[in-house]
Amino acid sequence: MDAEPASRSISSHLHRALAACRRAWSQAAKLTLDIALPTLCVACREPVEGEGVCANCWAKLSFIAPPFCPRLGIPFVYDPGPEMLSMEAIANPPAYARARAAVRYDDVARTLVHALKYQDRTDLAPAMGRWMARAGRELLDDADVLVPVPLHWRRGWSRRYNQSGALARIIERQTGVTVVAEVLRRIRRT
Ligand SMILES: [Zn+2]
Repeated sequence: MDAEPASRSISSHLHRALAACRRAWSQAAKLTLDIALPTLCVACREPVEGEGVCANCWAKLSFIAPPFCPRLGIPFVYDPGPEMLSMEAIANPPAYARARAAVRYDDVARTLVHALKYQDRTDLAPAMGRWMARAGRELLDDADVLVPVPLHWRRGWSRRYNQSGALARIIERQTGVTVVAEVLRRIRRT
């Protein structure tokens, strides 16, 4: 006799039906999540594929390219020739030897920085770290270590992570210059 007992047959049917329900539910849940939580462009809030900034806003970012002041890294409107410092660097020499910036701090750039610092948008760090590595290549070629700017411990608590450390890790991966965290401590909350 090859018929299975009625109770076992009902139970296996039930199991199969439940498994099918579970599969359908998990697919529906995934679909709902995809619909409810698309990645939004950090600047204009339009849905975006990939890394947090849509093509429109990307085009609005002004990446800094030569010619710029070799000391401050601020862009020149015209090329004054090699090693010419900006008026700002001559009039008010900074405490550091050289600085570089990836983009002008305008609307989109400001939104990006704020999203990374205050809105937990760590997904922006890889792209921003790569821009920084490119902008600072000349300085990074001579660098022994990378030291992220530390947060005051109270701010570290409220922000949960140090965005400067997150960027430094990306730059380390791009350039091979080692990150040395914990060598500086912020003693004043500024
Ligand atoms: Zn956008």
